[in-house]
Amino acid sequence: SFRPAERIADLGVSEILAITARAAALKREGRPVIILGAGEPDFDTPDHIKEAAIAAIREGQTKYTVLDGSPAMKRAIRDKFRRENGLEFRVDEVTAAAGAKQILYNAMMASLNEGDEVIIPTPCWTSYFDIVRIAGGVPVAVPCDDSTGFRLTADALDAAITPRTRWLLLNSPSNPTGSAYGENDYRPLIEVLNRNPHVWLMVDDMYEHILYDGFRFVTPAALDTGLRNRCLTVNGVSKAYAMTGWRLGYAGGPAPLIAGMAVVQSQSTSCPSSVTQAAAIAALDGPQDFLAERTASFAARRDLVVDALNAIDGITCRKPEGAFYAFASCEGLIGRATSQGRRLDSDRDFCAWLLEAADVAVVPGACFGLSGYFRISYATSEQELREALARTAKACAALM
Ligand code: PLP
Repeated sequence: SFRPAERIADLGVSEILAITARAAALKREGRPVIILGAGEPDFDTPDHIKEAAIAAIREGQTKYTVLDGSPAMKRAIRDKFRRENGLEFRVDEVTAAAGAKQILYNAMMASLNEGDEVIIPTPCWTSYFDIVRIAGGVPVAVPCDDSTGFRLTADALDAAITPRTRWLLLNSPSNPTGSAYGENDYRPLIEVLNRNPHVWLMVDDMYEHILYDGFRFVTPAALDTGLRNRCLTVNGVSKAYAMTGWRLGYAGGPAPLIAGMAVVQSQSTSCPSSVTQAAAIAALDGPQDFLAERTASFAARRDLVVDALNAIDGITCRKPEGAFYAFASCEGLIGRATSQGRRLDSDRDFCAWLLEAADVAVVPGACFGLSGYFRISYATSEQELREALARTAKACAALM
């Protein structure tokens, strides 16, 4: 029988995908399931981006490109970092891959030796831990909670650093909490990093464009010129431009790291899809005005969801600064019993019960490294959100 490699023996496919698949199966059986699990915008890819891809196909841009991005792709990435982030990169300091996920994977594979440590504040996106593990590294979780807005503090960072620490991995705005780091949140962390020059910084800026209430986005490499030489700034088109299925992520960082990432990519996918690169160039170079409209729509939905959650006895939810997730505590419901007399012992129990009792699919906080919570993705129509929250409120009120 098949014997898996040790590097994946303890890993499974994403639990979020498993929950979403179960909810989708119930829906196919005819149940009125509302799925608030998916991490993707409900908007369509804008037409000018689609048209650029269609034109590329017609013009015969259907061959391999340069390994880590065509010259035009790299120029678009370089220009984006300059225009939006105040970061100057040469074209050999930027790279493109089939998604930010592949960028992170390439970077970990290119930099980690067996046993190297990566500090990851939790709750965090589920993939970080397993990418580090597959690359032979050791993820070091630093638990963060509501009291700091789920942000890592300088003291906690200081305490987590060892001689084996290779990277600190930060994500702002965050999946799953929606928390964001402003300049004042980054400064004390950079101070710690400057005292520990062996620690590099990887930042995942995927949700850069989805920020509310005038919160000003900054990326750490732009705040400190020294850091610039040991920071990988990761981004992608999936969330900002509603392009999750196209698969394009990119990054900027020191040339030797970028070259190492190209070595890894050269033996996995060769290059991102040529057609997708044409679309991504149009996304980065093209009009950006629709982003504000879409963010305003997300903001309205955030308010709707957070207010409705906080109105439920037993649930509390911090108002997130960005992304399209609400991360709510269900601690107050743990220990209560369902009408069938089953006790809810954990956030996993709560989420499984909510799907059964209310046909609402959400993801347990345990998936992100913090039990007692659950994540709602609100990239769904207001009508569906209202219905889902009404059902949740009704089901929770019936708990004993
Ligand atoms: N980073 C974060 C924080 C995410 O939430 C996601 C997707 O869910 C990704 C990266 C991956 O994005 P991509 O579609 O570019 O692989």
